[in-house]
Amino acid sequence: MNPSLSVIRVLLIEDEAGDAYFAKNALTKKHIINFEIIWVQSLALAKDALIETCFDIVLLDLSLPDSQGLETVKMARQILGDIPIIVLTGCCDTEFALTTLKAGANDYMVKGDFGFDGLTRVIRHVLLRSEMEVHNLLLVAALNAAANAIVITDRDAHVKWSNPAFSQLTGYSLEEAMGKNISELVKSGLQEHSFYENMWQHLLAGKQWRGEVINKRKDGSLYHEELNIAPVKNHSGEIISFIGIKEDISERKYLEEILLTLANTDPLTGLFNRRVFLERLEQEAERVSRLGESVALLMLDLDFFKRINDTYGHAMGDEVLKQFSQIMKAHSRNIDVPARLGGEEFAILLLSTNKEAALMVAERLREQVAEIVIPHDKGDVRMTVSIGGALLSSGDNTGEIVLNQADSAMYKAKESGRNRTCWFDSSDE
Ligand SMILES: [Mg+2]
Repeated sequence: MNPSLSVIRVLLIEDEAGDAYFAKNALTKKHIINFEIIWVQSLALAKDALIETCFDIVLLDLSLPDSQGLETVKMARQILGDIPIIVLTGCCDTEFALTTLKAGANDYMVKGDFGFDGLTRVIRHVLLRSEMEVHNLLLVAALNAAANAIVITDRDAHVKWSNPAFSQLTGYSLEEAMGKNISELVKSGLQEHSFYENMWQHLLAGKQWRGEVINKRKDGSLYHEELNIAPVKNHSGEIISFIGIKEDISERKYLEEILLTLANTDPLTGLFNRRVFLERLEQEAERVSRLGESVALLMLDLDFFKRINDTYGHAMGDEVLKQFSQIMKAHSRNIDVPARLGGEEFAILLLSTNKEAALMVAERLREQVAEIVIPHDKGDVRMTVSIGGALLSSGDNTGEIVLNQADSAMYKAKESGRNRTCWFDSSDE
């Protein structure tokens, strides 16, 4: 049914020979389009003709021997399926003509008023419109079947249309969303004002914008989405609409977080692992040398840990490490970096902390560790810890140097009888 085809097959259903002649005549003048016209005089004969030929369009008289008025349109629609129908009305009654459209006709023309190429033009328009309707139907079906949420807004971000995936993602049906400002529906408030400012600047400049956003569902729950917004312009280049395509990436974000945690922490104790600790240590050493802040490093080593393992088994060894780690966490603030460096060796970076404060933390921690009692068949298990401390200085000390300093202070604590805290003294070197 392509209107650009050079031959258009017309089924003319008209019982009056004279009226049929006028219609045929209107189409057989010298037009660029060639019409192939089959003329029948009743709906019953139209049915027969449909078996023989595929028609592009039907011209329909309403007063036929086997049907009258609007009923003719309704019956013809049933017989013709999707073939476009142009009703040939006998009177200039626009109101009646419009009711034929509701009954299933695609357009109408007043008989005998075809002008030079009036009928041809109406046929072409109807065919074009039908083709666009089919095209539109396909596009809507594709958008409705899309896994990504799609929302179309006007220039001021008021929702004009959304697909089922949008309803599934946000909890808002199309009816609920229609006409509302999209930010009113999904804005979580978790993005800075500048984030949206930047986005709008981009969009109003006619550019596509892409980014990750935390949005809010109808039930108030939050989700991560990857959002792609494209401005749509009219023929004069003005933005008339925006199309937003959203992908729910909450699960991906969740998995990323798990992976990050696995990559950064010690699985037994949940403390940071050696790699993260050394990275943070170098960062802090660099920051301290630049800004001259005070950061303390404590090295902690459980005393006689091998003996616990050998006497009570590895399960008890693990339990001791876990309970010790709990105390380390309890003595660390959010800004601090408590870590298990390996075996029974631990360390904490205490940020914005001077020597005196760090010694107090170390002593409190040490005392609390000494109070732990874990019952066991072979007798209660107790533990102590030896701690060495050093300060990151604003000189050109690297993290590695300070780590060695804290380590040697910790060995001094061991050598001095264990269960104590020693501070690094450069005269010991
Ligand atoms: Mg008639």
